[in-house]
Amino acid sequence: MTAQLLDGKALAQRMQAELAQQVQTLQVRYQRPPGLAVLMVGDNPASAAYVRNKERACTTVGIASYGKHFPADVTQAELEQTIQALNRDDRVDGILVQLPLPDHLDSVALLNQIDPDKDADGLHPLNLGRLVRGEPGLRSCTPAGVMRLLEAYQIDLKGKQAVVIGRSILVGKPIALLLLEADATVTIAHSRSHDLSTIARSADILIAAVGRPGLITPEMVKPGAVVVDVGINRITDETGKSRLVGDVDFEAVLPVAGYLTPVPGGVGAMTVTMLLHNTVWSYRQKFE
Ligand code: NAD
Repeated sequence: MTAQLLDGKALAQRMQAELAQQVQTLQVRYQRPPGLAVLMVGDNPASAAYVRNKERACTTVGIASYGKHFPADVTQAELEQTIQALNRDDRVDGILVQLPLPDHLDSVALLNQIDPDKDADGLHPLNLGRLVRGEPGLRSCTPAGVMRLLEAYQIDLKGKQAVVIGRSILVGKPIALLLLEADATVTIAHSRSHDLSTIARSADILIAAVGRPGLITPEMVKPGAVVVDVGINRITDETGKSRLVGDVDFEAVLPVAGYLTPVPGGVGAMTVTMLLHNTVWSYRQKFE
């Protein structure tokens, strides 16, 4: 048996093509394109690559970019003023602060400044509260991307055992809540969980969102389970070459799982697309 791959890249391309078509029609009706502002601080190469990807994807679907790049020593006050100006800017429908930020900055205080209707990453407490209550609202991009991917492959979640490994506010917790909303029976495991192997092996749907290469071995996977690898880790192999891997030992788990996301080409591709989706959603909310 070999797992079927959950192809996030292909789904993302299809979704981006649909968004591009929508934007083409809507910008004539509303006299302007949707707008997204990505705020980046400092020169972290991984963050810079993510921001470039996001801006490229915006261009593909016709979203205008109002991104700003600040030096690493920018003050909290300057960032807060920028966010407030973007909140007032009618051309901007989505605002995202690229995380992580340098230590002297308070990222939670910054996220709280974003107008909840422009909160493209769904991390404002109001949107997280809506998620907890199961009300419509902007959902965090990576968790929403995972759900879209499962939906696209018609994976039945109702009554299934789902195990989410990782409990961050960015990924683990919101994924667990979305799975709960989809009627799965959800367990959240984390760094203090006892006997992770047994917990993981109970899962029909296993989500790894930790940031540890090779954490999920084949013994931890129930045969036929759906395995979603959210982890993104850069490793250097024996030949000295660097590459991206997830949290799942991909080659070893492939013959055991029923479905598996590749890294890259799985969840990561969906994350960027959900950011575009959220921006267009906010834009439509404003006019419709
Ligand atoms: P985080 O460091 O905030 O959280 C990691 C979580 O893993 C914590 O809740 C911790 O309890 C848990 N954990 C740590 N060690 C563990 C262990 N040995 N066993 C079980 N649980 C353990 O990280 P994050 O922001 O949630 O990101 C997790 C991973 O997802 C990272 O690799 C990150 O790069 C990746 N990520 C991917 C995307 C994407 O688009 N694919 C988006 C965001 C984050």
